[in-house]
Amino acid sequence: RAKQRGKGKYAIFDPIMHSQVVERLQMENDLRHALDNQEFILNYQPIVNLESSVIEGFEALIRWQHPKKGLISPFKFISITEEMGLIIPLGQWILKTGCQQLSTWQKQFNYPLKLSINLSVKQLNNSLITTLDEILSEYEILPNTLSLEITESMLIENLESTFYLLHQVKERNISISIDDFGTGYSCFSYLHRLPVDILKIDRSFVHNLEFNHHNQLITESIIVLSKSIGMSVIAEGVEAVEQKNWLKQHGCSWGQGYFFSPPLLPLQATMVLEKGSYQEYINNKQI
Ligand code: C2E
Ligand code: MG
Ligand code: MG
Ligand code: MG
Repeated sequence: RAKQRGKGKYAIFDPIMHSQVVERLQMENDLRHALDNQEFILNYQPIVNLESSVIEGFEALIRWQHPKKGLISPFKFISITEEMGLIIPLGQWILKTGCQQLSTWQKQFNYPLKLSINLSVKQLNNSLITTLDEILSEYEILPNTLSLEITESMLIENLESTFYLLHQVKERNISISIDDFGTGYSCFSYLHRLPVDILKIDRSFVHNLEFNHHNQLITESIIVLSKSIGMSVIAEGVEAVEQKNWLKQHGCSWGQGYFFSPPLLPLQATMVLEKGSYQEYINNKQI
């Protein structure tokens, strides 16, 4: 219809665009109430020691349980909460909820289980330090069992102030992970100057690892690099036993992915810890 009106003229009413705008406004409206309505939930995906197969930690992954639309992925709403500024209270909720759960688990199972929590770039300011101090005084957790995940692009965006902030995090003995490592700028020259403890190999490299020579070269380089600068390395997106074996043979210490377990509800995660491994949990449920 817009075309019929000729060049240089715009359609006044585009039904598709209109419905997208309405949907977006609706989403923002719903998000405004979602925290108060307790519609967010953290799932926990095991991080497994490749040598011993023991679950040594979890990554907290947020989901939105929309009352009408069902479960919504973080890909669909995190960026909107960032634009709305809602990521600040939401990010605080994520940190507190995750750490409360971690403290419960550490007491229940009496070992230094770890938890990794994703940060948004918008959370990289001084209020993060305030929140972390509140958490450390409120919940009994060993600070070095908590790790904050950031991406390379978040580092690049504001290197100076991020550098300063990360050092404040480290002063509190909290660990720092680089998520999706290898997909960003991977500026090796800055890495050793940052107080980073863990590199998480992006799942795009782990995918097809057993067949793809290119991915093998990249993955091996990251493992060697991380060891040479004294960092730990976790492979993301491990889906097959061949990938797990390749990683183990090439000196990668930890793995995370559907091969071990999908992200779990808190209660499922507790049951997995009780059983010692996800496989045992599944076997016992006779699925
Ligand atoms: P991420 O931090 O890289 O998280 C890993 C994603 O890979 C998760 O998706 C996880 O469910 C998925 N995954 C795990 N194992 C496998 C596997 O074997 N194969 C495949 N194909 N995928 C696997 P999810 O939960 O949808 O989260 C997507 C992204 O949303 C996360 O990527 C993270 O960047 C962001 N996100 C999740 N939770 C939070 C949060 O609490 N705060 C913030 N700021 N971002 C979050
Ligand atoms: Mg992550
Ligand atoms: Mg990742
Ligand atoms: Mg990510």
